[in-house]
Amino acid sequence: MLKLQNVETFYGNIQALKSISMEIAEGEIVTLIGANGAGKSTTLMSISGVVPPRTGEILFQDQPIHGLPPNAIVSMGISQVPEGRRIFPYLTVLENLDMGAFLRDDKDEIKNDIAYIFELFPILAERRHQAGGTLSGGEQQMLAISRALMARPRLLLLDEPSLGLAPLVVKRIFDIVRKINTENNTTVFLVEQNANLALKTAHRGYVMENGRIIMADAADKLLANEDVRKAYLGI
Ligand code: ATP
Repeated sequence: MLKLQNVETFYGNIQALKSISMEIAEGEIVTLIGANGAGKSTTLMSISGVVPPRTGEILFQDQPIHGLPPNAIVSMGISQVPEGRRIFPYLTVLENLDMGAFLRDDKDEIKNDIAYIFELFPILAERRHQAGGTLSGGEQQMLAISRALMARPRLLLLDEPSLGLAPLVVKRIFDIVRKINTENNTTVFLVEQNANLALKTAHRGYVMENGRIIMADAADKLLANEDVRKAYLGI
């Protein structure tokens, strides 16, 4: 579904990604783990077109998407949930969800999707007229994911969904990510510092260090790998 080939991304003179190559197949949950500053968010932003790569290729369903503007990439079926759950704080929950559907004009289907989201996250239904900024951190993360889902993505990019949230809330969010993947057949690319959780959720994983992919394997193999356990699982 998604293929990155020798992708190199820069911030001015700083090279954040060094010849990254990876693949995500339809229906998979794939995770990218690594330390602070390894280049995980930059990988997502290169895919979504927010920070376009300087060289290399990104193919989505065999179409090149590197160099396309972010809205064109969203309309092709890729939605990103950025780190820090950037929802619109002064808009209500419903208005935030509407914003996620801004590229769509199928009103009835949009209604159905909002109903589906309220089934996934009943707390958002209760809070539908509340301003996004007044929600708890966990609820904002749920809203950020839901807003991305309103674009009906085939591929959902999640950047650190567990960041700063209580373990019980994190568990609920990850249960829903699995559900979106299995029930909705949405492919998921998950960036996480919580490597243990990410590898328990994903089918496959990549490990990133200093802008390079240093390992790729099935998630259970990475969980059992001595080097991964020492460096990223604190075991
Ligand atoms: P974290 O988990 O802390 O977000 P990360 O693995 O997602 O880390 P990135 O945010 O992708 O890492 O950062 C990769 C490298 O690019 C780092 O060295 C970082 O300092 C640098 N970088 C990121 N954003 C910018 C920016 N806007 N301007 C300059 N350098 C940046």
